[in-house]
Amino acid sequence: MSIINRILFKYLKSYFFLNKINIKILHKGVELNLYHLDGTDVLEEKYYRKTASVCPECLKKIDAVVQEEDGKIFMVKNCPEHGDFKDIISSSAKYYKWTHYQKKDKNGKVLWQFDKDGESNPADCALDDDRGCPYNCGLCSEHISTCALALIDLTNRCNFNCNFCYANIEKSGYLIEPTLEEIDRIMTHFRSKPMPAVAIMFTGGEPTVRKDFPEICKMAKDHGFKEVIVATNGYGFQKKNGGLEWTKKVFEMGLDTLYLQFDGINNETYEKTRGIKKLMPYKMRVVENCREVGLSSINLVATIVKGITDIEVGNIIQFALDNIDVVRGITFQPVSLCGRITAEEMDELRITNADVIQEIENQTGGKIRMDEAWYPLSTIVEFGRIIAYLADVDPIEFTCSPDCGFATYLVVDPDTNEMVPILDYFDPLKIIDFANRFWEKIKHKEKQPIKFFEGILGDMGKTFDEGLNLLDKTQLRARFLLGILQYTKKPGKLMEMFSRLLMNGDWESISSFTHGTLLLSSMHFQDAYNMDIERVKRCIVHFGVAMPDGSVNEISFCTMNTLHRERIEKLVAKKVTAKVKEEFDTTTGQTREEIHQQVAQNGGMRKTELGEE
Ligand code: SF4
Ligand code: SF4
Repeated sequence: MSIINRILFKYLKSYFFLNKINIKILHKGVELNLYHLDGTDVLEEKYYRKTASVCPECLKKIDAVVQEEDGKIFMVKNCPEHGDFKDIISSSAKYYKWTHYQKKDKNGKVLWQFDKDGESNPADCALDDDRGCPYNCGLCSEHISTCALALIDLTNRCNFNCNFCYANIEKSGYLIEPTLEEIDRIMTHFRSKPMPAVAIMFTGGEPTVRKDFPEICKMAKDHGFKEVIVATNGYGFQKKNGGLEWTKKVFEMGLDTLYLQFDGINNETYEKTRGIKKLMPYKMRVVENCREVGLSSINLVATIVKGITDIEVGNIIQFALDNIDVVRGITFQPVSLCGRITAEEMDELRITNADVIQEIENQTGGKIRMDEAWYPLSTIVEFGRIIAYLADVDPIEFTCSPDCGFATYLVVDPDTNEMVPILDYFDPLKIIDFANRFWEKIKHKEKQPIKFFEGILGDMGKTFDEGLNLLDKTQLRARFLLGILQYTKKPGKLMEMFSRLLMNGDWESISSFTHGTLLLSSMHFQDAYNMDIERVKRCIVHFGVAMPDGSVNEISFCTMNTLHRERIEKLVAKKVTAKVKEEFDTTTGQTREEIHQQVAQNGGMRKTELGEE
């Protein structure tokens, strides 16, 4: 053994001894108490929190209270001009209280909570409006999360004309369609931040009606986005003439994932939600063409409307399982309520995240239980940071409010080929607790990287220190894995896959781990009735808009749709010439005639075309 190796070996021994991570449970049951209300006073206390919101009529900022009544959680607020407003935030006070539970020490210091402190990039704009959030988007210095998902509206043209859609040329009367130069500017904005966005999603309108859509996918990859996603009703992918080739092309150009609008498995459901008959064959062609070209990352997106699509949640899960080779996840989105509605209409229409996950429990025969399977998205913040740190990739930070969304995993057991909840493999609460404590150690290490040889050997020593830090990371991976394995209920191929992910430590392994797993999530976008400014400030889903003055405006999804869209779109709208109005014809898009024909020919048929209402 050379002298350097001997020094290295001795150093590593002492280094790892001193930094030994305590993976023992301190007291029996402590971890569970960290995350569970049961047995605490919190359960007995009525929930009450002050926040700020906006008036649904005039959109002025007003005080609001989030409080418990009859086992439910409501937002109550008053506008001096427009009176009282009351909206349900969660139909389960117990579940809501769990997601807002804080573990405190005897001095009242918060030791743990689902609300996670986000990292912030430097502000893009001044706090010009002294009313503060949500009028300063963005991003202003009050914002406390980075962008986990960057959005660009590619067009407001669409082959459908859904009743509740806010982004539609037919309704707005103007065209929103950023040029390639503007799209490039937005991508540069998101990627040039100290904590760059890792994932980008193209939205609309229907993004795939743009002829230059494949080039835009390539542009995103060239900018370094790891995950390139399109939110689509399936238009470009399903065409009978050329859909397969088009799917292949966009896949080759860099598209990773489809967020496929998917309201259910019954044609009748789509008639109600989209006003189009026979839409299932259209959706099936999307799935089949993706399968054919190997584009195996479809996330089904279901807008949940009471009495219309909530009855389909079980069907959608079964559809995903039947197509697990290409479907990786389902996102349930309780419908947001736009425009003015009465209290009675509110009662009829409002559905919360808790209702959705309760419905999933009901429709899966209790297999995916509300009280044990679902966690706020923010639960995995530390876990995600560890994986990103060990894999040397940019982290995706889910530091949104616990009210924003929930998630759970189903896993195809590679040994038996059966789909089971991930709870069958792991003890999630213990793993979360372990990950939280592990991250504390890593944070400490990040601040103090090893600088052992630098002091002795100068520049040459730096190279050795880099080697030490690399070895250190490999050791950390192994330790993290060992820690996780402690809380594994069922060893087998899944754990092998996870080990490979951790030890390979690259984006591709992370991405391939999600094959054969089904991520179920629910995100409830806010509207003016339930807007909670504390949620808004933590938003992780941000629109980028290229402004006429050459800047890029980064705006939280929920404030964009509630407050800023009309004003901003007027600034960036392109003239709707007579030609555009008649044909939707632009240099980058398809004509209205082409689009309508595609709907009719390919199985989808507008109800009006059949002479019906
Ligand atoms: S949502 Fe964020 S960027 Fe917009 S005003 Fe609030 S804190 Fe500022
Ligand atoms: S888009 Fe709305 S629901 Fe989603 S993270 Fe942002 S604030 Fe939360």
